[in-house]
This record gives sequence, C-alpha cells and structure tokens, in this order.
Amino acid sequence: MNKFKQLGLNDLLLKAIEDMGFETPSEVQEKAIPVLLANDTDMVALAQTGTGKTAAFGFPLIQKIDANDRTTQGLILSPTRELCLQITNELKNYSKYVKGLNIVAIYGGASITAQASDVKKGAQIVVATPGRMQDMINRGMVNISRIDYCILDEADEMLNMGFYEDITSILSHTPEEKNTWLFSATMPREVATIAKKFMSQPEEITVGAKNSGTDTVQHEYYLVNGRDRYQALKRLADANPDIFSVVFCRTKRDTQNVAEKLIEDGYNAAALHGDLSQNQRDMVMKAFRTRQIQMLVATDVAARGIDVDDITHVINYQLPDEVETYNHRSGRTGRAGKSGISMVILAKSEIRKIRAIEKIIKKQFEVKTIPSSMEICE
Ligand code: ADP
Ligand code: MG
Repeated sequence: MNKFKQLGLNDLLLKAIEDMGFETPSEVQEKAIPVLLANDTDMVALAQTGTGKTAAFGFPLIQKIDANDRTTQGLILSPTRELCLQITNELKNYSKYVKGLNIVAIYGGASITAQASDVKKGAQIVVATPGRMQDMINRGMVNISRIDYCILDEADEMLNMGFYEDITSILSHTPEEKNTWLFSATMPREVATIAKKFMSQPEEITVGAKNSGTDTVQHEYYLVNGRDRYQALKRLADANPDIFSVVFCRTKRDTQNVAEKLIEDGYNAAALHGDLSQNQRDMVMKAFRTRQIQMLVATDVAARGIDVDDITHVINYQLPDEVETYNHRSGRTGRAGKSGISMVILAKSEIRKIRAIEKIIKKQFEVKTIPSSMEICE
C-alpha cells in the first residue's frame, strides 16, 4: 500500500503527491503527519534543513482545513519573503485537487493593499513574514481571531532574525484554543522559550541528531591571504565548470561587489540581498532556479531557507559570525540525500572558527589548496 496513504492522507492529497513524484514519506513526515491528522495537538518538530518539513505540516494542514468555509483557519509564519513564496507555491501544489482552497502569501516589499484584498476574498491559509503580518494586524487588514492552526516554520531562523516580539504579539491576536505547530532545524533557547510560553503539552518529534550538520555534505576549506579571496573564488569556479552554487558574503555591499565583479569577468552570477526590490529578488530567484544563473551571491538573510534542488556547492566567501549560520548555509546543498560540497575561503587568522564549526557539525573539514591556473587549463 502507498506509504503516504498509511499515514492517513486523503485521496485528493495522494493524487497530488503522486503528481509530484514523492514515493515515500521522509522521516519527519512519517512521524508528524499521522499525529497531526489524528489529534488536535500542539507539536514541536526538529529536523534538519532539507528533510521535508514543509509537507510534514502542509499535508495535515490542508486536510484539516475546511475549504468550504472562507474564514482564515491556518496561519503559517516564516522568516523571509522568499520562503513565504516557496511555502505558498508548495501548498498550492499539494492542494491542487482541493476545490475552493485559497492560500495567500503576505510579505514586505510588495503592495500591502493588494495582499489585504487577496486575504479578504477568503484565504483559508495565510503564509506570512512576521513583520508584514504585524503591520497588517495593526491596520486591521487581516483577521486571525478564528484560526485553528498556527505554524511557526523555521522557528530558529525567525528568532535569529529578531522576530521574537512580532511573533509574540501576533500570537496574542490568535484564539487560545488553536493548535500551534513549531518546526525548526535547531532548538536554541529562544525556541524553547516560545514553545514553553505558547504551547501546551506539545508532541515532540526529533529527526536525526539535534544541531548536527547535513550528512551528505562534504566540508572543505581553502587557505588564502585575505586580499586574494576574489581570485580564489574565480579559481574555484573555473575548476568546477558545472558549478551551481550559492556564494555567501557577510554584507550587502560585499555581496553586490562580488556579484558585479563575477559578471564583469564573464560568469553567470547575480546578487541577492535585502537592498533589491521584491521584483528584482523574484527575478533573480527565477533565473537561479532555471539555471540561467550558476552562482548566486547572497547574504545570509536573503538566502534563508532557499530550497533550490541540486545545488552542487555552497561557497563561504567569508565565514559567518555564528556557527549556526554556517550550518544553515551548508544545508543549501546535499538536500534530499544528494551529495554536496561546502567550501570555505579562509584566511589564516580564521582557523579557530573552523575548529569551532567542526565541533558543532561533528565532522572534519578537508584542507584543500586553490587549484592553480595551470591545473585549471588542463
Ligand atoms: P525543509 O523545510 O525541511 O528544509 P523542504 O520542505 O523545503 O525541507 O523539502 C526539501 C525538498 O525535498 C523539497 O524540494 C521537497 O519538494 C522535497 N521533498 C519533500 N518531501 C519529499 C518526499 N517525501 N519525497 C521526495 N522529495 C520530497
Ligand atoms: Mg523549511
């Protein structure tokens, strides 16, 4: 029997799942879906990036929503606009055979009145960034006083980004008797605090080791003089002509500069950071998804949660300050069991950071040397 059917999913979802080509549920799906379908319960689910958390809450949510009732019944909070759009698209795919179900994305950088009017038309599910959601609540543009389900997706990232207050304020506008489902890759203290404060006796699900890195990813570092970073990046790109990668920089300015230099030097590159308009960001993401861009140069915030399949390399042009951030970066590759490489361009003074990361990811880096131009020509 179909493994998804065994989890209790209905025919409309099973048909969509078949269309998407999902053959077996992932571990987090296998654990979360039957519990969420069978009970009205709160849930805390911890699973690494790329393990299929969206469907783990999306399938049960769609099945439990009453599509004949136009009230907003489900609210999903997610850290970034890109993720909001991604989740919305996924949920629309899952629910393509469910008649009358409306899912609306709410995020900054696009017309708030247009989004408000979409909600008003009768959105049973709203997928929102905390900032824009708070804004719409303040303006009376959205009513979440009758929701049955509130999902905090990528909760660790939302809290990393400083959304604690927005989240608590948003939750105060929701009914007491709703169910809250919290999904996160890691369980830092703030996530535990939120869970304790806003959930009652949640079911807890953990997949894999907490806070550990993605297993299919190989980690490498390349020692360079700080001023040779850009040359090193070019060499790495030249040595991997089929590269399909996200290159992480620390600041918007570096992100823009590196992308501009790469483009000047003839690479298929583009920048993704918060100073771009929403429209520009959407265009960049589309070009990346369709492989017109091979190297997406991005800030951590802009790249949060991006789920693009088959990214071959994550390149840390500069290391992040937080070890956790490294984990999230390298989780962009090696998804759905595929292999991937996370490379760090490293100045000698930063070796200590590598040792700290190794402790967290419980894996050792390979020390590599930048290929010379001779080797690349061969
Ligand atoms: P997470 O939120 O845990 O980081 P996602 O929900 O974004 O992960 O899923 C990662 C990728 O795996 C997506 O491309 C998704 O379509 C795919 N995926 C999810 N569940 C399955 C499944 N059961 N079988 C095959 N692919 C899946
Ligand atoms: Mg996710």
